Amino acid sequence: MFDFELDRIVAWISDGGYTSVALQLPEGLKIRATEVSDYLSEKTGVDVLIIGYPCYGACDLFDYRGIADALVHFGHSPIPSLGDDPNVLYIESRSDVTLDGFDWASLGLSGTIGLLATVQYLSLMPQAKEGLESTGNRVVVGVGDRRIAHPGQVLGCNCSAAESVMNEVDGFLFLGEGDFHPLAASFGVSKRMLVLNPVTGEVRDLSETRDRILRRRFAAIQRARDAESFLVIVCSKVGQNRNDEADRMVRILRENGKKAYKAVLEEVTPMSLMAYRVDAYVNTACPRIAMDDSARYDRPMLTVPEVEIALDLRAWDDYIFDQIR
Ligand code: SF4
Repeated sequence: MFDFELDRIVAWISDGGYTSVALQLPEGLKIRATEVSDYLSEKTGVDVLIIGYPCYGACDLFDYRGIADALVHFGHSPIPSLGDDPNVLYIESRSDVTLDGFDWASLGLSGTIGLLATVQYLSLMPQAKEGLESTGNRVVVGVGDRRIAHPGQVLGCNCSAAESVMNEVDGFLFLGEGDFHPLAASFGVSKRMLVLNPVTGEVRDLSETRDRILRRRFAAIQRARDAESFLVIVCSKVGQNRNDEADRMVRILRENGKKAYKAVLEEVTPMSLMAYRVDAYVNTACPRIAMDDSARYDRPMLTVPEVEIALDLRAWDDYIFDQIR
């Protein structure tokens, strides 16, 4: 069960004197939106507005101004580099699951292990550290850059916490569900990455999935080398906007004899790109759209470092994950 900290929200609304509050939840938590709305209305009398737009991260923070006095954003930690708004409350929705009874020796890890997690499972770090140490390992937890709120935390577009310790570890253990976040770490550091799902107790190695995706990326780069025209996508979402990088992409494409157009989009989807008569896309928005969803697009979509490879400005061996910093 994920902790929605409802009483903390009630106290925050009362202390702030807000009369209207917007709620922003990612898709997986929207099922609880009406329950939260009922609770807050009953306890505080506040007007509650549920934001119906898709939400994939704190990069997607809804601009509540003009619609409500304040915003409660669920399921993600703040992104420190985006600044602090006192009228926005982040509810990280930490899981209450434990690792009681997990057989740490079954991981077969030895040496120095870097511990990583998604925000929902960060509270398990002390228990995982103790478990790993009980089987003779040394454990380190890296500190990320200014996009990362907590030690050891990984976002789908930023694995700086893993990078900060990659030279001193023999491998990583990632606490989380699904492949999305651990794959980011796996793309960014070339060390063994085991994933422990705290809910099911399942352990898996991501190497095969990572290699399969990277093979697809190399195929996309190869196809884009023949493209003559590119649409460079810049995203209007506050935490995905890399306008300077988009301008740089346009410049280097043109310097290398390509046609390049810059387009601003809110949501990058196959439908939103269909109309443009170009041979390939460059996505400066969330890098995972190109990495994970390329099969949905009818033309090659490249990340920023992939464009550099396609233009022979970066060596194939120097492939890097396109992190948002
Ligand atoms: S840019 Fe993509 S990976 Fe990064 S926080 Fe946003 S949705 Fe997640």
